Amino acid sequence: MKRYLSIIFAFCFLFHSENHAKTYFVSVNGNDTTNVGTVSAPFATIMRAQQYVSAGDTVYIRGGIYKMKENQIAERSRIWVYVHALTKSGTPGKFINYWAYPKEHPVFDLANVKPADKRVIAFNVTGSWIHIKGLEVIHTQVTIKTHTQSECFHNEGSNNVYEQLSMHDGQAIGFFLTKGSNNLILNCDAYRNWDYTSEGGRGGNADGFGCHPQPEGKGNIFRGCRAWFNSDDGYDCIRSYESVTFDHCWAFYNGYSTDFKSLGDGNGFKAGGWGLVKDRRVPDSIPMHVVQFCLAVKNKANGFYSNHQPGGSYWYNNTACYNGTNFNMLNRDKDFSADVSGYNHTLTNNLSFAPKTYETQWIDTTKCRLKNNSFSIPLQVSKSDFESLDESQLVAPRKADGSLPDITFMHLKKGSKLIDKGADIGFKFSGKKPDLGAFEY
Ligand code: CA
Ligand code: CA
Repeated sequence: MKRYLSIIFAFCFLFHSENHAKTYFVSVNGNDTTNVGTVSAPFATIMRAQQYVSAGDTVYIRGGIYKMKENQIAERSRIWVYVHALTKSGTPGKFINYWAYPKEHPVFDLANVKPADKRVIAFNVTGSWIHIKGLEVIHTQVTIKTHTQSECFHNEGSNNVYEQLSMHDGQAIGFFLTKGSNNLILNCDAYRNWDYTSEGGRGGNADGFGCHPQPEGKGNIFRGCRAWFNSDDGYDCIRSYESVTFDHCWAFYNGYSTDFKSLGDGNGFKAGGWGLVKDRRVPDSIPMHVVQFCLAVKNKANGFYSNHQPGGSYWYNNTACYNGTNFNMLNRDKDFSADVSGYNHTLTNNLSFAPKTYETQWIDTTKCRLKNNSFSIPLQVSKSDFESLDESQLVAPRKADGSLPDITFMHLKKGSKLIDKGADIGFKFSGKKPDLGAFEY
């Protein structure tokens, strides 16, 4: 009987361990040669951990600074080097997780990865069903003097989640997507990224977040992200074949150095664009992007910009202040012969305050649907409408769960004429009607 029970026990143990998600550890004090990836014998690199993982497994990355070296480059391909190449996929609903160990803070420092004449990609993600959480990537380099770009995270997979990532003080784009669908970029920060090396150091390519999916790259969403002091734009989805959604994201001080020297384009949200000349790449069906509940503050050029897109987008409940122009709906005509006032845009419940030059530009109101915007009602917006105009709140630390900090900046004050002046377009609201802008009173 005893022997029989022990056989059952052994069988259950085997069955259990084969079906149970595994956990691996990576540490700055780890070792890829001698260690097996346990908490007491961690690996040194994520690349080593990737060799062991399968769908449902978690790699915990312990806190500390991972000073990456050129001999750690995982892959080289034509003009690129990939310091990490996340090629392994999870399965539907079973992610491979690369997570910061709870309450610890892993930082990947790319300062010493400077391969001559190569574009540096700190994390190249071609796998799908991958969840990356809590990593910080700093000092990513550009070595090429002509047109180029480096990137902290590059996505080509689908159904990936990028959460609570922080990409800053480098010369690279924070996050960049060229392929893949249904990716979620959640609660990430990209800031103080300035490519001062290429093309005379204007920084014209270093965006906080870039989303440029190829055909079928549908359903990519940016939520709860912040982009500031990036030398080009905060968010850019030029040459996107599919619709991209920006939801509850903030963009401020883009196009400037930290001492407000003028650098690249400087748009908060550049939602669209296919250049000025029609080429073979322009899709027959121009995607309509969605920008909602977003905040754009003091970006050099435009807060919300459609960038010569040959078609319209959806702009709901956004707040813009102190940008060159707050809302610029500049379009290209369908045969790419001329820039024209924006057509086929839907603008509802947006709020514009104190632009540097214009509240709005390039909107053909006869060809757009404008409803209940501060500038279309119109309402005279003044300082007294707001709880606070203290911009320093924008860089406040995130909450423990990674969500945006609670602020009062640009929040409506009791008695503001902007309260309950919106149209009900299906979002949750309080009071009698939705308010104008990104923050419901
Ligand atoms: Ca850009
Ligand atoms: Ca309301």
